[in-house]
Amino acid sequence: MNSIDETHDPALESWVESANDPATEFPIQNLPFGRFRRAGETGALRIGVAIGDQILDLVATRLIDTDDMNRLMAASPDDRRRLRRAISTFLRDGGADQRARDCLVAQSDAEMGLPCHIGDYTDFYTSIHHATTVGKQFRPENPLLPNYKWVPIGYHGRASSIGVSGESFPRPNGQIKAPDAEAPRVGPTRRLDYELEIGVFIGTPNERGEAVPMDEAESRVFGMALFNDWTARDIQPWEYQPLGPFLSKNFASTLSPWIVTTEALAPFRSAFVRPAGDPQPLPYLDSASNREAGAFDIQLEIWLQTPKMREAGQAGERLVRSNFNDAYWTVAQMVAHHTVNGCNLQSGDLFGTGTLSGPDAEQAGSLLELSEGGKKPIQLANGETRTFLEDGDCIVLRGYCERNGARRIGFGECRGTVLPARSHR
Ligand code: CA
Repeated sequence: MNSIDETHDPALESWVESANDPATEFPIQNLPFGRFRRAGETGALRIGVAIGDQILDLVATRLIDTDDMNRLMAASPDDRRRLRRAISTFLRDGGADQRARDCLVAQSDAEMGLPCHIGDYTDFYTSIHHATTVGKQFRPENPLLPNYKWVPIGYHGRASSIGVSGESFPRPNGQIKAPDAEAPRVGPTRRLDYELEIGVFIGTPNERGEAVPMDEAESRVFGMALFNDWTARDIQPWEYQPLGPFLSKNFASTLSPWIVTTEALAPFRSAFVRPAGDPQPLPYLDSASNREAGAFDIQLEIWLQTPKMREAGQAGERLVRSNFNDAYWTVAQMVAHHTVNGCNLQSGDLFGTGTLSGPDAEQAGSLLELSEGGKKPIQLANGETRTFLEDGDCIVLRGYCERNGARRIGFGECRGTVLPARSHR
């Protein structure tokens, strides 16, 4: 597990003044990586680090010599820690130096791309609260399948339709069969939903045939971002048996632009515990360090901005608060399980955690849970209601970590907007 060093010292300040604002999500203790270019430019994306309301152009600092994020992510854990210390030092000292200031680009002057090339994407199902609530709707007699407490369940998703925060996408069309209908119809989904997830990025790859043991699993992880796995709930039940999710999921997923590294998250670790009476993980999913500090205390929020709120100049309404801590499986267990059969993970591969619902009904990470399958409309403060998403609705995910003795850090935003459906003929 990553240890705490001088880069986490809560007293550290930067010569970038906005990084010292107590409200910033990007103080000098965070240093998340993303890819950007100046707004209006058409050239290749460059690697930057968010600092306050600025971006530090890393190639311009000469701390790295590549614009290939996947190459940077593949570095050894020691090299990654060395780079973090070098960036921290650069942003601590040398503020009077005009050359250092020339390496900054205002975030308001930049557009962000996906943080890396994502070769493969796997979505897990790590919240037992989500699995149980959703299972009840699909199989009331048998909500939690018998494998759940033994296997970190997942499926292979599609990387090509993953976009970056700020995007919009059309409401998907698909086959929909009402429970009382004799045959399906094709048309726009009427039950469009979001899923609150964390995206986990693989850094150091493993060879095909090489199982990554638990004690090494986390050293293969570069960092995390917020992830919205948009889902069409009326396409899903008709298509999901026997091979799992398909077109109900792969039309769009949205990532926040900044990868918060596992090193930055070191002060926000928690013990991994199983409820009394549950089976303990099999040996390949167990380690002392995982038990001691395998979980991450990341607070999560879901915000909805309807077109009516936008017209009234309102930022939106918070629907839910949740926490990654409540997941049933850890990041290390996802890596160990994914590779136990010898599957090779590559630098830039993305894992979704699955919908991160908490134990309480109001901590639901999807509308499917929050509206009880569309039966209980959600009452919004401006008088509107929602069961599922309507055209023009914008969903914003937020995440942050705060603890006594540590500087608060944040993930930025993961924002996506639903457009009307396009013709499917
Ligand atoms: Ca999902």
